[in-house]
Amino acid sequence: MGQPKSENITWHAGTHSREARERILGQRGVTLWFTGLSGSGKSTVAREVERMLAARGRHVYTLDGDNVRYGLCQDLGFSPEDRTENIRRIGEVCKLFTDAGTITLAAFVSPYRADRDRVRAILPAGDFVEVYVAADLSVCESRDPKGLYRKARAGEIAEFTGISAPYEEPERPEIALRTDQEDVASSAARVLRFLEDRKVIAT
Ligand code: ADP
Repeated sequence: MGQPKSENITWHAGTHSREARERILGQRGVTLWFTGLSGSGKSTVAREVERMLAARGRHVYTLDGDNVRYGLCQDLGFSPEDRTENIRRIGEVCKLFTDAGTITLAAFVSPYRADRDRVRAILPAGDFVEVYVAADLSVCESRDPKGLYRKARAGEIAEFTGISAPYEEPERPEIALRTDQEDVASSAARVLRFLEDRKVIAT
């Protein structure tokens, strides 16, 4: 945890424990952190995982890409410093949701390894599950669901990951998906199986 600016603050523990919340929900809290290039399929796979979990009566919440930039992170852009701060804030939100017992899905390009590792470090051991959503850049670019690669190639977007800004691949992701080789259903099924194996949800 970083150091707060003020010295006059005290941490208050709640009266209702995480275990008690998880008992009520019948699941364990966890953060599934989807990382990968734009267009690799993070949102698409996360949406399918969310749908499958909800269909099983699980308590699940998704934090996705641009959405946080309308509120929580509306003051941030795409410079390296702002990307780092963006991921730091989202990580803190994931920590709270996970502590609340929620299966939390986070789908962000999050191109810097150090930023992702920092989120891993603030969550209790085992609560951060890195899901690397991989597809060749050429495939992501041909999908171009938001037309962003076209704009980036035309020089209309600066610092675009994969084109003019780096993407640092995860070194040891808990789950590695290849969306250019498997369909959405099998990717999502693999994530669900992982959650069952980890006893986050019942089989
Ligand atoms: P991201 O969130 O990583 O930017 P999106 O999920 O918004 O990516 O877009 C991925 C695009 O690729 C969607 O249009 C989706 O329908 C398409 N797609 C094709 N095959 C797959 C696959 N196997 N897994 C995920 N997405 C796929």
